[in-house]
Amino acid sequence: MNLQKFPRYPLTFGPSPIQPLKRLSAHLGGKVDLYAKREDCNSGLAFGGNKTRKLEYLIPEALEGGYDTLVSIGGIQSNQTRQVAAVAAHLGLKCVLVQENWVNYSDAVYDRVGNIEMSRIMGADVRLDAAGFDIGIRKSWEDAMESVRQAGGKPFPIPAGCSEHPRGGLGFVAFAEEVRQQEAEMDIQFDYVVVCAVTGSTQAGMVVGFAADGRADRVIGIDASAKPGKTFDQVLRIAKNTAELVELGRDITEKDVVLDTRFGGPEYGLPNDGTLEAIRLCARLEGMLTDPVYEGKSMHGMIEKVRLGEFPAGSKVLYAHLGGVPALSAYSFLFRNG
Ligand code: PLP
Repeated sequence: MNLQKFPRYPLTFGPSPIQPLKRLSAHLGGKVDLYAKREDCNSGLAFGGNKTRKLEYLIPEALEGGYDTLVSIGGIQSNQTRQVAAVAAHLGLKCVLVQENWVNYSDAVYDRVGNIEMSRIMGADVRLDAAGFDIGIRKSWEDAMESVRQAGGKPFPIPAGCSEHPRGGLGFVAFAEEVRQQEAEMDIQFDYVVVCAVTGSTQAGMVVGFAADGRADRVIGIDASAKPGKTFDQVLRIAKNTAELVELGRDITEKDVVLDTRFGGPEYGLPNDGTLEAIRLCARLEGMLTDPVYEGKSMHGMIEKVRLGEFPAGSKVLYAHLGGVPALSAYSFLFRNG
C-alpha cells in the first residue's frame, strides 16, 4: 500500500485519542471490551470530525490549484459544511455552502442553531435550498460553483461528505494506519471497528486501510441513511477506487463491505427509540455525547450487537466516534425532559 505518495495538509491535532469505555462495557455484561477513537475532538477547527480528516487529503489540491473558494453541500445541520467553513476560515479562503432540506424534522430553531449557526459565524455564504435528501451530485451545488465563476472566483468543489472526490477515501486509510500504530503502543489488537455510514467514504477508507492487515470485514458499518442499498453501493465503489489509488495490491469485493441495516430508521436525520436510548445511555455512563443523526445510530448498533451476543466474548471493539455533536442543539425538543 502506498498512501505516502499523497500530500496531506495537517488540519487535525495529530492522532486522535483512543479511550476505553469501561462503564458502558461493564453495563453491557463485561464480556466485550469497548473503546472509542475520538474523531469528534480530532481538531481545533470548529470541533473537527470525520470530514476534517478527509479534507487533509483534498486541501493540497485546492492550494496547489490556486482555488479561492471552497464550495460544498449538505443538509441544514450538515457537519461537513461546518468543517469546510472552518477549514476555509483557517486557510483564508472563501466558502459557499448549499444547505438542503435533507431532514423531515422542524424544530423552531433547526435552521439557526448548531452547525449552520457556526458556519454563519465563520463567515461562510450559506444558501438554503428546498431539495430533499440525496447523497449524489446535485444541481444546486453546480449552480453555486457557477455563481462563484460568474463573480470572477475559482471554486473548489467538495462533494457531500467528501465522498465523490477521488481522494475522499484517503483520510480513513490513514485512520487505519494510525490505529495500527496505537495498537502497537497499547499492546492490544481490535477485533472489530464500528463506524457510522451515510455517504460512504469513511467506511470505504477504513475497509481499504484495514484490508492491508486482513481486517476489511471486521469494519462494521452501521447505516444511518435509511437507504442502505445506495450507501452500500457507494461504500463498495469508493473502496474499490481507493484501493486502486493506494495500490493495495488486491481488489475490494462485496465480501469486504459489512453494512448493518437494522439501526438507520425511520429516516435519515430522524432517530428511533433505540437511537435515543443509546444516546442517553452512553452520555450517562461515559459522559460521551452522540447525536440523533449519525453517531447515536452507530452507538445503538454497537450496544445492540453486544446485547445480542454478536461479538464473541473477549472481543475488543473500537467505536469510531466521527463527530456530529454540534447538531444536538437543533434537536433540543427531543431532550426537553432529559
Ligand atoms: N458521522 C458524522 C458525525 C457525520 O457527519 C457523517 C457524515 O455524513 C457520518 C458519520 C457518515 O460518514 P460518511 O458520510 O463518510 O459515510
